[in-house]
Amino acid sequence: MVFYNNRIYLSPPHMSGTELELITEAFKSNWVAPLGPHVDAFERELASYVGVKGAAALSSGTAAIHLALRLLDVGPGDVVFCSTLTFIASANPILYQGAKPVFIDSEPTSWNMSPAALERAFIDAQKTGTMPKGVVIVDIYGQSADMAPLLSICNRYGVPVIEDAAESLGATYQGKPSGTLGGIGVYSFNGNKIITTAGGGMLVSNNPEALEKVRFWSTQSRDPARHYQHSEVGYNYRLSNVLAAIGRGQLRVLEERVKARRAIFERYAEAFSNTDGFDFMPEAPFGTSTRWLTTLTVSPERCGLTAAQLLDVLSVQHIEARPVWKPLHLQPLFNGYNYYPHDLNNSVSDSLFERGLCLPSGSSLTEGEQNRVIECIKTALRFPYRGR
Ligand SMILES: *Cc1c(COP(=O)(O)O)cnc(C)c1O
Repeated sequence: MVFYNNRIYLSPPHMSGTELELITEAFKSNWVAPLGPHVDAFERELASYVGVKGAAALSSGTAAIHLALRLLDVGPGDVVFCSTLTFIASANPILYQGAKPVFIDSEPTSWNMSPAALERAFIDAQKTGTMPKGVVIVDIYGQSADMAPLLSICNRYGVPVIEDAAESLGATYQGKPSGTLGGIGVYSFNGNKIITTAGGGMLVSNNPEALEKVRFWSTQSRDPARHYQHSEVGYNYRLSNVLAAIGRGQLRVLEERVKARRAIFERYAEAFSNTDGFDFMPEAPFGTSTRWLTTLTVSPERCGLTAAQLLDVLSVQHIEARPVWKPLHLQPLFNGYNYYPHDLNNSVSDSLFERGLCLPSGSSLTEGEQNRVIECIKTALRFPYRGR
């Protein structure tokens, strides 16, 4: 029995070195907080990287989704459609606004929102007079949703789209940067994302007035007056200058990070190419995934072990792996909200959750560490009944 003290994490932060210089610059000029030149530069640099007119740096991706909903004027009693296979942060802000989420299933080719399910949700909404104020389309695990058919459905019904690209910065859809296809795009720089500011987010848009509004709300909606005057509810949602400095350093190495994560995926795929019952998340033909996390489904009837059993085995060996997102329509918090499966007898997200597994995928993962993960899984598959 070998003991490893060096734990392998799922997706830890990966600094490049230049972040510290940029932070030092912020300290030297005493632009520590609240806003400052690094925030402005980070916004400009990210907007230019993804090719949009502007960006607003915020304290989190969740804050960005919240303000995106306000831009769509989502309020109490309104309906918002949202991908079901995602992190809870995609939908929590719907509740902040007192609105009602309706969850939309995934399709099998990208694991993202199913156009068929979305269409059925719209048909019902039209019949019952409960049209949504917006649709939150999520791009999970580094891969864009199939935006063309999804946008064409939303456009047909005249409903705007928020693209939650928190997990897909650096990916493309039909050659365009993920996060720039819906009217409003959202990125996250949380510690586990492909680049991080320790914590932070960004809202991107081609509409300068929308960005002005977001900056206004995110700094407590202060009216233009010498005294403190407020006519609208606001939030403390801006990113600090120090964290923006980290973001600028990270953005410079984003392309390298994408390459590294894709290489990690390739090594896993190669190592398990002959493993019956392991099916990696497909890369849909319409774009390039960052492979933010290498994810797969595990079929116990073919490989002898369930995803949950593999999680246990990895955990004992100090390797952090995770199940695929528990779909939001299965969350106790969202009990009683409507859900539209991919087709009437088939909920794709349910089976992805049941069988899905996310493997350590950080861009700093060494080949040696990755071999440890691979060997651990291969050993478990060779002796599926030992110790169970
Ligand atoms: C991380 C994440 C968010 C939230 O971003 P935070 O910066 O952590 O608030 C939203 N949506 C998805 C899909 C995410 O993975």
